[in-house]
Amino acid sequence: MDRAQTPAAGTMRAMIFEGVGRPLREVSRPIPAPDAGQLLLRVQACAVCRTDLHLIDGEVEIAEPPRILGHQIVGTVLEGGAAGPDLVGGRVGVPWLGWTCGECEYCTSGRENLCPRARFTGCDIDGGMAEYTVADARFCFPIPPAYPSEQAAPLLCAGLIGYRALRMCGEPRTLGLYGFGAAAGIIAQVAIAQGIRVFAFTRSGDAEAQEFATALGAEWAGASEQPAPEPLSAAIVFAPVGELVPLALRALAPGGTVVCGGIHMSDIPSFPYRDLWEERVIRSVANLTRADGHEMLALAPQVPVRTRVNPYPLQDAGRALEDLREGRFTGSAVLIP
Ligand SMILES: [Zn+2]
Ligand SMILES: [Zn+2]
Repeated sequence: MDRAQTPAAGTMRAMIFEGVGRPLREVSRPIPAPDAGQLLLRVQACAVCRTDLHLIDGEVEIAEPPRILGHQIVGTVLEGGAAGPDLVGGRVGVPWLGWTCGECEYCTSGRENLCPRARFTGCDIDGGMAEYTVADARFCFPIPPAYPSEQAAPLLCAGLIGYRALRMCGEPRTLGLYGFGAAAGIIAQVAIAQGIRVFAFTRSGDAEAQEFATALGAEWAGASEQPAPEPLSAAIVFAPVGELVPLALRALAPGGTVVCGGIHMSDIPSFPYRDLWEERVIRSVANLTRADGHEMLALAPQVPVRTRVNPYPLQDAGRALEDLREGRFTGSAVLIP
């Protein structure tokens, strides 16, 4: 272990959220001590997610600020405690789902993503926009060795939520992806590897995102307002724009499904019932289960999924978030502490 990995000094740098409308602030904090069952991690990389924008904007509430954001964490295990002494020295990923009760009807029926007492990383508990973090060992995933940490980080939310959204599409022959950012970029690769034909819908005139999509193997890329080149078996709306839902619905073949992949979206405009008729479905996906995580992280190196990452130093978390908001990069922003 080199000096940079030794938590001997006792303090760490962290970016904290203090309230809606206030910029993230860099602070010095004590390095957290892991409870029984928790791992102490040296953060290697933490990818930024659109949910982080919803959190700083107050569209998703942080009940108890100040809070360290960040829920796509790859870290090296420094202390495993009773939870995982064998994990020390290895890398794990920490996702959005940070804790569940294990007792409720959802937890006991394979739907822990809906646990009403669930606690979420970087929202209800401190996350990875810091040099160190602690995480419940039961909710961490081993990182596939093929991935450098910064390449693996976007898999932990964009990848896992994207994967859950893809599963909710059933077995589509054709798939529309509305909003071609980090999640769509990952899940397009998984879908294409499964023989699904992918159509990418982006903001009008976003040539860069359209090129990103076709470079990954999308058969067609165009503006969201354009009609789909053929009726779609399913569509996933990743962009937080409610207007896209009726557009995606109209692009579906009978029996098709629109999956809304985000945690927040602007209001969905009304639409004629005939657009829903013929057993079309609109549904959301919420959070992830650990089973989703294990499946996706086993699948990713087989595809193999490649992530496009834009590294930022930790203290530039605010700039990374604004660049995400303005669509200034394709793929994912990843903070490197
Ligand atoms: Zn529960
Ligand atoms: Zn996320």
